[in-house]
Amino acid sequence: MRATLMYGAGDVRVENVPDPVIKHPTDALVRITASCVCGSDLHPYGQMKPQDGPARMGHEFIGVVEDTGPEVTTVKRGDLVVAPFAISDNTCVFCREGLHTSCSHPQANFWDGEPEEGGQAEAVRVPLADGTLVKLPVAPDSALVPSLLTLSDVFGTGYHAAVSGGVNERTGVTVIGDGAVGLLAVLSAKRLGAEQIILMGRHRARTDLGREFGATDVVPARGEEGIAAVRDLTGGQGTHVVLEAVGHMPAYEQAVGILRPGGVISRVGVPQYEEAPIGFGSLFRHNLRLAGGPAPVRAHIEELMPDILDGAIDPGKVFDATTDLDGVPAAYQDMADRKSLKVLIKP
Ligand SMILES: [Zn+2]
Repeated sequence: MRATLMYGAGDVRVENVPDPVIKHPTDALVRITASCVCGSDLHPYGQMKPQDGPARMGHEFIGVVEDTGPEVTTVKRGDLVVAPFAISDNTCVFCREGLHTSCSHPQANFWDGEPEEGGQAEAVRVPLADGTLVKLPVAPDSALVPSLLTLSDVFGTGYHAAVSGGVNERTGVTVIGDGAVGLLAVLSAKRLGAEQIILMGRHRARTDLGREFGATDVVPARGEEGIAAVRDLTGGQGTHVVLEAVGHMPAYEQAVGILRPGGVISRVGVPQYEEAPIGFGSLFRHNLRLAGGPAPVRAHIEELMPDILDGAIDPGKVFDATTDLDGVPAAYQDMADRKSLKVLIKP
């Protein structure tokens, strides 16, 4: 079958690889019908060293179950399923607490940690199929597929940011980042009732979609200028909750700068740093808190899916381009160049 491999920064290839096979009785084989490129794929695309490759790529997909191991009970051949970006058993102590990205099962993993599997491919072996996969009540060619595909990562991640930050109808929210996760963090904050939602982003087409998703204000400025603009919009007090969907240090510093006393930074952008200001002059002085992490999107799929199925929300609007597998290398480059927001792949 054909699959996407990254050989190093800027070097993505689609090649023939061995077909996946059932290895464990809890595995399922899935023929992928919809996948996509993630903003987090752009981190290795920008900086991966050749000695770390080639790596199979893709951690968001929908597909049809082709085969199951003898212990799989919740999905069967022919089912359309969505997979979260993390493999989990959905039964361990952490999964039961809604923290599937910390699943304690030995086979729990991120797709990006499975060297022989990936979602940007024709097929995939899914470990712990009962815990990982969620059946979708639509056909593979349903118009709802793009929105349902966002349940595998970007919508669940934006939602996790909002939930981790404690967003509710009494909070003012600022979202940093106008990528797919940032825009769906806006949609999530709206869904949780936030009154004011300030979106910090510089790309007009994206921030327009952010307004459609519920942003009440848009701040294109960054750094000190952006911080001043958010303070102006919040009566000089700052914002209750920052949903940080970028992952670079300037975004963290911006988040610290725009928080009001007692506020929370909820990070879902994968931090590209290990050290950051947390002391008296940054977090401590005004009781600021730091939250977030890899989103346990599996915990949110059943909760978010009904609003997609009944058309109340359309998170799939973050997809602004579609390609087949041959177009995947160009899709990476288009997303890196900010020509595309998020590319849907139909293998
Ligand atoms: Zn678990």
